[in-house]
Amino acid sequence: MTDHKKIIIAIDGFSSSGKSTMAKALARRIGYRYVDTGAMYRAVTLFAMRAGLIAPDGTVNADALSSRLPEIEISFALMPDGSQHTILNGEDVEAEIRGMEVSNNVSPVAAVAAVRRDLVVKQQAFGKERGIVMDGRDIGTTVFPDAELKIFLDAPAECRAERRVKELLAKGQQVGYEEVLANVKSRDHIDQTREESPLRRAADAIGLDNSSMTIPQQDAWLMERFAEAVNRAESSDAEN
Ligand code: C5P
Repeated sequence: MTDHKKIIIAIDGFSSSGKSTMAKALARRIGYRYVDTGAMYRAVTLFAMRAGLIAPDGTVNADALSSRLPEIEISFALMPDGSQHTILNGEDVEAEIRGMEVSNNVSPVAAVAAVRRDLVVKQQAFGKERGIVMDGRDIGTTVFPDAELKIFLDAPAECRAERRVKELLAKGQQVGYEEVLANVKSRDHIDQTREESPLRRAADAIGLDNSSMTIPQQDAWLMERFAEAVNRAESSDAEN
């Protein structure tokens, strides 16, 4: 697609609701940049784990982590197969940040106010030129409240856990359904109840429960919402 007004697309929702699959496919199709904000929180979590800033009981040393944020540099590298890898201070950490250890620690790290403020600024910088698809928990509410298209994905926790198990097994990581379900539920809870930009649906977001949709159906649905949003953005420009 060319020659249309470039917009910002915010895809938010619960853990493992299929946000990144949808967001990536759309970005590729329409030639937009894709930013996985969950990967950024995961990279900060890995940094904190390696720096010994997370106690064995999962408590995060928020003050120490906040003061070390300037040492953390996160970027994304495009691989020859078209996938995107997360780079933490020059190291490809893509595989490590997807493992259960990081998954178990990420939500408390993402609840640290200074971490959120730091990453939100970086995410807003990615969207300066518009033409971006960003997925996360607070994109439509906090990062880009003015996004022209906001989607909020949800599906029952059991369905999301099943998907996540399949994904992890496909990547060669041995995990059990119960462990993944507990992780999904605990992340949902922490994400919804934290003080700083909790996970919630923006008033103007379009909700979608994708539990009984195939991936091609979801992609087609999203493509229609995208075309509508571009039309809306172009007609509102023409009126002004
Ligand atoms: O999207 P993903 O599941 O990889 O995100 C990992 C974690 O990062 C989430 O469980 C959530 O705690 C946090 N997160 C967040 N805000 C975002 C994206 C992710 O708090 N915008």
